[in-house]
Amino acid sequence: MFEIQEALTFKSMCESSRKVAIVVHAHPDGDAMGCSCGLRAYLGAFTSAECRIVIPDSYPDTLSFFVPEGSVIDASREQEDAFAWVTSCDLLVVMDMNRFDRASVLAPALEQCTSPRVLIDHHLDPDRGKFSLVFSETDISSASELTYWILKGICPEGLPKEVLKPLLVGMTTDTNNFANSVWPSTFTMASEIIAAGVDRDEILSYLYNEYRENRLRALGYILSRKMEISSDGVAYVILDAGELNSFDLQDGETEGFVNMPLSLGKVRMSLLLKEDDGYYRVSVRSKKGVSANAYAKTFFHGGGHENASGGRLYFPGDIPGREMARDYVEQTAARFMRSTAPLGKN
Ligand code: 5GP
Ligand code: MN
Repeated sequence: MFEIQEALTFKSMCESSRKVAIVVHAHPDGDAMGCSCGLRAYLGAFTSAECRIVIPDSYPDTLSFFVPEGSVIDASREQEDAFAWVTSCDLLVVMDMNRFDRASVLAPALEQCTSPRVLIDHHLDPDRGKFSLVFSETDISSASELTYWILKGICPEGLPKEVLKPLLVGMTTDTNNFANSVWPSTFTMASEIIAAGVDRDEILSYLYNEYRENRLRALGYILSRKMEISSDGVAYVILDAGELNSFDLQDGETEGFVNMPLSLGKVRMSLLLKEDDGYYRVSVRSKKGVSANAYAKTFFHGGGHENASGGRLYFPGDIPGREMARDYVEQTAARFMRSTAPLGKN
C-alpha cells in the first residue's frame, strides 16, 4: 500500500486547489463512476475546490442513482467544456485507468494539462512518468477501494455517507458483488462502510434488480444461440451491431455476460466481442492460471487485470472484415491456450 505521507501530500494538494478535474476511462463503469463520485464528494465536504468529473463518453443509466446532478461533463456531448475544464484545472486526478489513451477523446487534453496530475488506479503497467503523484495498487479490488483507503487515511474525523456510498458501489461492481478480485482489505472496507450506515441492500437493488426486460431476453438468446466453446476451453460470443440494436442493448446492459461461461468446468477463458464503429470491443475474463491480460495485450491492443481485461479488434486492420472475427478468435485462442500451462499445473 501507499505511504501515509503520500496521502497527506494528496490532501494538501486538494486543499490548495480551486478547480479540480477528475478524469476516468472511456465507457465508464461502476468503479470509474464510484471512485470519482466518492472523491468529488470528499472535495465538496472538506475543501473549497470546485470539481467536475470529466468523462470521455456517457456512463450507463443503471449507475445514475448515485451520480449527483451537475457533477459530470460528458465529452461526447460537451466536448469544448470537457476540454476546457481539463486544460484549465489546477489539479488533475486520473482514476481507474493506467494510461492516457484509455480516456480516448480526452487523451490530448490530459497531455495538455500543465497542472499537477495525480493517478489513483489499480491496473497493471501504469504510465507513471505522466504523473507527479501515483497511487497504484494491483492487489486490491478496485479503484474505489484504493480511494477509500486514501481518503480514510487523510480524514481522521470520519467520512460522510455521500463519500462512502459511491465507493461501496464501485467496489461492488468491480468485484462482481464479491465474486472476483476480493482481498481481506475489501471485506474490511465493506464492513466499515456498512457500519457507518450506508444501505447496501438499496445499492444491490439498484444495481441488480432494476434491469429492463430486453437484457434478460438477450442473455437467453446469447447463451442458447451465440455462445461457442473451442476445444481449448475458450468460450466466446460475437455480437454484431444488428443484434445489439435488435435487442436495444445499451452500454452497461451486457455487464456480467462475459463472466457467465466461466461457470462451466471446461471453460478457462471467456470472450465477449461487441461491434462498434470499425472495431469490436473485446472483453476477456479468465480463470486462475490463464492470463486474460496477456491475451488482450497480445491480440487485442488492450490489457487490464490478470483475469479481467479488454481491448479492441479493428476491421480492416487486424482482420479484413467483421465476418473474420470468429476465425481470428478461434486461431488466437488456440495459439494462446497451447502456450499456457495445462489445468492443474499452475
Ligand atoms: P471490460 O471488459 O469490463 O470492459 O473491462 C475489463 C477490464 O479491462 C477493465 O479493467 C478495463 O479497464 C480493461 N480494459 C477494457 N478495455 C480496454 C482497452 O481497450 N484497453 C486496455 N488497456 N484495457 C481495457
Ligand atoms: Mn476498476
